[in-house]
Amino acid sequence: MSLELTGIGISRGVAIGRAHIIVRGSIEVQESIIAERLIEAEVARYLDAIAIARMQLRSIRERIPKETRVDITAFIDTHLLMLDDATIVNTPVDLIRETGCNAEWALKQQRDAVVEVFEQMDDAYLRTRRDDVDHVINRIQRILLSTGQGDLHVEGGLHGAIVLADDLTPAETVLLQHQGICALATEYGGPLSHTAILARSVQLPAVVGVHGIQRYLQDGDTLILDGLHGVLIVDPDDNLLEHYRQRQAQEAHRRSELAGLAQTPAVTLDRRPISLMANIELPEDIEAVVRENTQGVGLYRTEFLFMNRREPPDEEEQYRCYLGVIEALNGKPLTIRTLDMGADKQVDGAGKLGPCGGNPALGLRAIRLCLKDPGLFCPQLRAILRASAQGPVRMMIPMLSNTHELQQVLNLIEEAKQALLRQDMAYDPHIAIGGMIEVPAAALAASAFARRLDFLSIGTNDLIQYTLAIDRVDDEVNYLYDPLHPAVLRLIRMVIDAGQHAGIPVAMCGEMAGDPRYTRLLLGMGLTEFSMHPSALQEVKSVINQSSIETLAPRVDALLQGGEADQILAGVEAINSSLH
Ligand code: PEP
Ligand code: MG
Repeated sequence: MSLELTGIGISRGVAIGRAHIIVRGSIEVQESIIAERLIEAEVARYLDAIAIARMQLRSIRERIPKETRVDITAFIDTHLLMLDDATIVNTPVDLIRETGCNAEWALKQQRDAVVEVFEQMDDAYLRTRRDDVDHVINRIQRILLSTGQGDLHVEGGLHGAIVLADDLTPAETVLLQHQGICALATEYGGPLSHTAILARSVQLPAVVGVHGIQRYLQDGDTLILDGLHGVLIVDPDDNLLEHYRQRQAQEAHRRSELAGLAQTPAVTLDRRPISLMANIELPEDIEAVVRENTQGVGLYRTEFLFMNRREPPDEEEQYRCYLGVIEALNGKPLTIRTLDMGADKQVDGAGKLGPCGGNPALGLRAIRLCLKDPGLFCPQLRAILRASAQGPVRMMIPMLSNTHELQQVLNLIEEAKQALLRQDMAYDPHIAIGGMIEVPAAALAASAFARRLDFLSIGTNDLIQYTLAIDRVDDEVNYLYDPLHPAVLRLIRMVIDAGQHAGIPVAMCGEMAGDPRYTRLLLGMGLTEFSMHPSALQEVKSVINQSSIETLAPRVDALLQGGEADQILAGVEAINSSLH
């Protein structure tokens, strides 16, 4: 009898192979008190462990073949950088000296403090950067505890194996991929972790959150892994094997079709060009933007520059960073979103923020925070304006909720322009200023924003959270998160209509834009600019290229007028399964 385990599919594709289990066990850390005369030796032991961790990561990096793409090796560099960060190097050392505790305990205390800050973040993507902290800290803990990092190297490689592990770091994933594995599944980890992003980027089928891997599975078991549906089947019978072999063939066909699309423009059957842009978080993400041949960047989340540091980056550092992205984009437009941090994110570069409110998602977040702290905001405005002299840059303001707020921002931008003029510093006087529509009030009043702005971009991640009153990072209410809720669709429609009425472009940059299940619906609603993770692009493009807006618009109109949730879901499915 075959056994089926489920998890979260994070990288689609079907793999059939033998199980290779990597067991490392959990890390148990005990507190002990170090005699005063041995404290400096304990500090030295801790710093040695960091040096060894650094050596290990460098050695992994060297073993990765030279032709590996830069965005893949960049994950390892991120971890190497963390090993130089004061939060990991200095704070535990201070703790050992101040409290006389052992190195493992000091590191655990620091890990718990950092993780707590990550847990409170509004942004699901940033929140999962906690995984990186854990990966780096676990590496150091294993060195301190001498438990080893687990058996990743197998003589003769792991050709065709499906690797099963408690968790895998990005570095380990790259190493395993180069040993020839065909898929991976882990007990822990989330869909937005770097390991997940990496698996998708190298097209390695993967499932995370599979509970019971160690209990139910043994080395050598025959497995089927379905990365789309998050399923792991143990000891499949012949019928199942045959079914999944067919799925593999279909998947291979789909992949080769999508790969061929990169150089094809996104145009509907009735010849309407659709703009497909990318969302990026790190300058390294640009590589994927270029590879997927996107038309530019529709959302550059600048928060990253402010993280993992005590002081915010100054104007010059921000300017240099934007310049690097502009150069890499080689003439394609770059939409830089101003800082979107919340009162809960007091860590790192935004250290001067006000007190944390009881409900950070409704508190001093994004533009509210920036207007409250011009010392944080104005250097970024100047950096973006200066960058606009060097290439096609647009500026985008997150989380606007009223036009008074917007007017304040526009005044600050005007002041920054005047100051740059006085200092004889270049900027684009016609730089486009846009607003993210992600608060229901802003969607309802979209025409007032459209009159004052050069473009709008719908942030569905937040728009859905605020419209349906569900915390987007609270797993307990995840089931209510519904892009097809009639209220959400009505708001989206209002924003698109307001943009059309004012004659300005409207984009969508939330996750909904990168989900091919909603592409036809959005086309039918009049959306012509989509911004998404580059890995979703060709799939969305393939839907666009097989759709006709002329056909979709009246169908979608009729569907939205009905307004009942169940009808909408059925209607969207019907639209998706029809010819165009
Ligand atoms: C959104 O809210 O849809 C969005 C794109 O912004 P973020 O996910 O960064 O909040
Ligand atoms: Mg948002």
